[in-house]
Amino acid sequence: QRAAEAAAPLRPGALADGTLVPLLANLGSAEGAAEALALGAEGVGLFRTEFLFLDSTEAPSVESQVTQYEAMLRAFVGKKVVVRVLDAGADKPLSFLNDAKEENPALGLRGIRALRAAEDILRDQLLALATAEARVNGHRDDLEPGEKVELWVMAPMVADADDAEYFVSFARELGIQVAGVMAEVPSSALVADQIFDVADFVSIGTNDLTQYTLAADRLLGSVANLQDPWHPAVLRLVGMLGEAGRVAGKPVGVCGEAAADPLLAVVLVGLGVTTLSMTPAAIADVRAELARHTLAEARELARVAVAATSASRARAAVTGLSAANA
Ligand code: PEP
Ligand code: MG
Repeated sequence: QRAAEAAAPLRPGALADGTLVPLLANLGSAEGAAEALALGAEGVGLFRTEFLFLDSTEAPSVESQVTQYEAMLRAFVGKKVVVRVLDAGADKPLSFLNDAKEENPALGLRGIRALRAAEDILRDQLLALATAEARVNGHRDDLEPGEKVELWVMAPMVADADDAEYFVSFARELGIQVAGVMAEVPSSALVADQIFDVADFVSIGTNDLTQYTLAADRLLGSVANLQDPWHPAVLRLVGMLGEAGRVAGKPVGVCGEAAADPLLAVVLVGLGVTTLSMTPAAIADVRAELARHTLAEARELARVAVAATSASRARAAVTGLSAANA
């Protein structure tokens, strides 16, 4: 069966007019790699490294990290892999990084903030990633794209250009060639132009971006109605990031749950998003929905969504217009 899949790879993600929208996988370990590829993932858009170390009480050694990253990168030779450095804190606490008692951990020392306060841990991780990439690509820079893995590394919970500059320059110093940031804090969208001045790419984490835009705890059932990425306030921030990415000529991905909602995925592309990363099981449905709309239609759906006055009205308006277009 593997051989048959290799012989007839799934079509890449694209709109009806041929505009390519790479469909990537969200992964938490190398174990899901084969399944993601079988489901048509064109690479990895979010590798959540913190899942590898949830049970660790001490910071992992460089060598133990190299082993894990190498296994994952080898599975995606010929493709792009976006690795996120440790996103520790709030819903994903790591005992070796988050020891302070905080009243509001979602607003606390998490993500890049925790790493800036524990720079040795970030240095070890970046070093391990650069080493794993060099091992997979054999320390050669004459390889064709199909022969090497393309490693991109990004930082979570970046608030502003200062965070972005800190991370990107540190990553480059340690041998990472492509360094970007996640847009999950609303401030990052408000200063998107400044962030693109330093970052090679941005990936929007709509789960946290929604939580912080609507001030609604993503873990709290009583405000789950507000944790909806269809909210026009969230979509307007996505639009600001998409526009800033277009001006800078740099990629803008989405790797939050929003990318797995087929119709919302079309809206995101209409807002300027250039790649979508999701749980591999969602790829087929998103691919099918993208193929039903041209870029002009996606932009029209996006205009309707951002003009709505609530998440449910945005969803209803886009669903209605999309059915009328079909
Ligand atoms: C997000 O916040 O949308 C995201 C992709 O990161 P996580 O869900 O791991 O916080
Ligand atoms: Mg997040």
